[in-house]
Amino acid sequence: MCSEKIGNQSIKRLLVGIYPIITLKRGRERSVLHKHPWVFSGAVYQCEPAADGDIVTVKDINDNVLGYGFYAPHSQIIVKMFEFSAVYTDYYSVDYWQKKIYNALQLRNTYVINDQTNTYRLIHAEGDGMPGVIADVYAGTVVLNLLTKGVENICSQLTEALANLGFNNIYLKVKGISHEKEKIVSESAWLKGKSEMPVMAKENVLKFWIDIEKGQKTGFFIDQREHRRMLQMLCKGKTVLNTFSYTGGFSVYAIQGEAASVVSVDISKDAIQKCEENIALNFTNHSHHIAIAEDCFEYLKKCDTKYDIVILDPPAFAKNARSVPNACRGYKELNMLGIKACNAKGLIFTFSCSQNIDKRLFQQIVFSAAADVGRHVRIIAHLCQPADHPVNIYHPESEYLKGLLLYVD
Ligand code: SAH
Repeated sequence: MCSEKIGNQSIKRLLVGIYPIITLKRGRERSVLHKHPWVFSGAVYQCEPAADGDIVTVKDINDNVLGYGFYAPHSQIIVKMFEFSAVYTDYYSVDYWQKKIYNALQLRNTYVINDQTNTYRLIHAEGDGMPGVIADVYAGTVVLNLLTKGVENICSQLTEALANLGFNNIYLKVKGISHEKEKIVSESAWLKGKSEMPVMAKENVLKFWIDIEKGQKTGFFIDQREHRRMLQMLCKGKTVLNTFSYTGGFSVYAIQGEAASVVSVDISKDAIQKCEENIALNFTNHSHHIAIAEDCFEYLKKCDTKYDIVILDPPAFAKNARSVPNACRGYKELNMLGIKACNAKGLIFTFSCSQNIDKRLFQQIVFSAAADVGRHVRIIAHLCQPADHPVNIYHPESEYLKGLLLYVD
């Protein structure tokens, strides 16, 4: 065993000796051999009795061990793999998960964390070989999202591993997360330490108040960091419209980049208030910023001003495969409105964070919006998620954020 500390599950495994075995149908081992972490229920030949969330051994039909994963009997994805080796060890140990988190932290240390930025995603689920686990860090405070029963079962090991790596304030955030076909069992809570709310975090020198307890998702949309920076570089002397502004991420960068004026629009009054607070936190003179609590579609429909730069960063319109057609219509309408609101020689940053809409489909939607408006639109950059949201090459589904930077004649 790797760890001196042995939890209940580990004792159970020691007594039983093995993890329950899931045997795959002939030929269905191929995707696992290619390190794709999802095993679909249709691929399973035989299952030993196992409970929801148990760690299971995955074998091919010839009894070869392919790896280990979390069992989810009620889901179409019946196993989410976290280990692609035949090595038999204690997968419930703190050590095992600590090594994975340390690995993830090394990537962030190399490419993201520096004296100007202490806001980053530490664990990006399958992107870091830890399906079901999301961990965002704000000035040392970790916000943990556990998306499956399997990773809920190892919550104490993850907490201990994070603490061993120097994270002393860890918050489990459950609100807004629904496990597939099952009730949420745990509630949001401080697992270790407690930070005063809101946390003040730094991103590219700029400061943000982040309320991890009450804010949306883990408190902030870290995935837009590089695009906010791009905006800062491009906006000097320009008028900027930041739709779906949330707490003003893009707006703060636009002011830093000396935009002529900035308008932030979000449907949430609370987000708009936080947006104003974030601007006040960074700048003493911000008279050329206006924050409006309104539906962005309504705002854009009646908007008779045109802007040099328009940002369209809506929430995911397609939450599942069934909602894709409606979502496509939503994205098209939004992009048409955005293109109409853009000055000649202007720029549009347009995004979709729907996992079910891939970059090709998104580009087609934007093409169709441009064609209907009848303006000449050129793509000048393809935008994607940053280094702390890595895409596991064996799991292209971990790529969710896509965007286009458009030049509108
Ligand atoms: N760009 C932001 C993140 C946007 S998240 C950033 O960089 O931080 C999406 C935001 O859209 C949320 O704040 C949510 O309140 C807002 N929203 C959702 N539907 C909306 C609508 N119809 N009109 C305006 N805002 C909306």
